[in-house]
Amino acid sequence: MQNPNSLKVYKFGGASVKDAAAIRNLVRVVQEQGAGSSLLIVVSAMGKTTNALEEVFQLAHAGQDYTAVLHRLVEFHRSVAQELLPEQAGEVPGRTPQEPGLNQLLEQLGDRLATLTPGDFDKQYDQVVSFGELLATRIVAGALDAQWLDCRLLVRTDHAWREGRVDWPTTERTLTATVLPLLAQGPIVTQGFIGGTASGLTTTLGREGSDYTAAILAYCLRAESVTIWKDVAGLLNADPKIFADTVRYPEISYQETIEMAYYGASVIHPKTIKPLAVRQIPLYVKSFLDPVAEGTKIHDCRHGLLAPAFIRKVNQCLVSFESKDFAFISEENLEVIFGALAQVRLKINLMQNSAISFSICTDFSAYRLDKLLATLRDQFTIHYNTDLALYTIKNYDAASIRQLTNGRELLLEQRTRQTFQFVCRG
Ligand code: ASP
Ligand code: MG
Repeated sequence: MQNPNSLKVYKFGGASVKDAAAIRNLVRVVQEQGAGSSLLIVVSAMGKTTNALEEVFQLAHAGQDYTAVLHRLVEFHRSVAQELLPEQAGEVPGRTPQEPGLNQLLEQLGDRLATLTPGDFDKQYDQVVSFGELLATRIVAGALDAQWLDCRLLVRTDHAWREGRVDWPTTERTLTATVLPLLAQGPIVTQGFIGGTASGLTTTLGREGSDYTAAILAYCLRAESVTIWKDVAGLLNADPKIFADTVRYPEISYQETIEMAYYGASVIHPKTIKPLAVRQIPLYVKSFLDPVAEGTKIHDCRHGLLAPAFIRKVNQCLVSFESKDFAFISEENLEVIFGALAQVRLKINLMQNSAISFSICTDFSAYRLDKLLATLRDQFTIHYNTDLALYTIKNYDAASIRQLTNGRELLLEQRTRQTFQFVCRG
């Protein structure tokens, strides 16, 4: 069943709302491209706000002085609001009296930081870092004169802090009951990246999770399509900030896209595709700088061999475990290692084992690595290298491998039929 309103979900990421000029451009894109459709607009935090919030949070949690970073963040949002909505003196009013306005949100953020307690790092992280999206959507909704909805009341998750798992039946029920009736009144703006628990606490869905939010909403509301508006021309075979001579895929299957996202192509959050594939909702990736250009259509399609895709994941850490008594790496040992990794929530990006050692490549997190070492130090000798990069070539050929490995010292490499991967220094 298609939604009778032919709902379109638009997602705008940090770069598309990085300042007042960017938000003005967003307004133009919405007015020109979205005219005549019911629109649900998902917005991320402005520019690098989430990083700044992480910094503020870490300082506050460690009991250090965070006021300078917080002040910059507050002033930045106030000044953008002031520029876009001068008649409201920097305040963006709530449409209903119950909804918090911009100044109220800024106050709530200050209060949260002032009342952090030691411990519960991940839980408190979510209560603080989620403010980036709340603030951004307040400003964007004001600029668009659109309805604002608090996504924490719409997307229900469990208590898996920083990677909330969606309670699909509850979310679908809530969204259908709340959002569908409002769509007739004009566009709706809501936050990406954040959800809420049954007990009213905020969760986040994982960094860069706003794409996933767009997919959750589209799935539950049976949207006609999702469009992710980006600063690139579509889904490219590599990140043009890193690699020269990129090519755009005009269309590509869900399956290929999932695999690219899984290997770390930062263009789309990995969890985004599945809900869309299940309900056969096409995903368009388009440029907010050139909104009429074709972009990429991700859908259920067949295509021939694709151009090799190059993916670089930085800030990687290579950890190797050796059994202390020169015993072989056994299933029993691996069980202990995997158990500890799951417990500290370090995800394996690549793994390899030899007789007496087992190596994994994982995203670097000092906090999680410390916990891992503390758990396993008694049983294993553990070495690790940081500041590494994991490169993946999907649909590789000899030339693409040569091109990428040339002049690099490979610390670990692995090849399957379609994929070539290696770890090297930054
Ligand atoms: N603002 C969040 C982040 O930077 C979510 C997103 O951008 O998708 O990770
Ligand atoms: Mg972002």
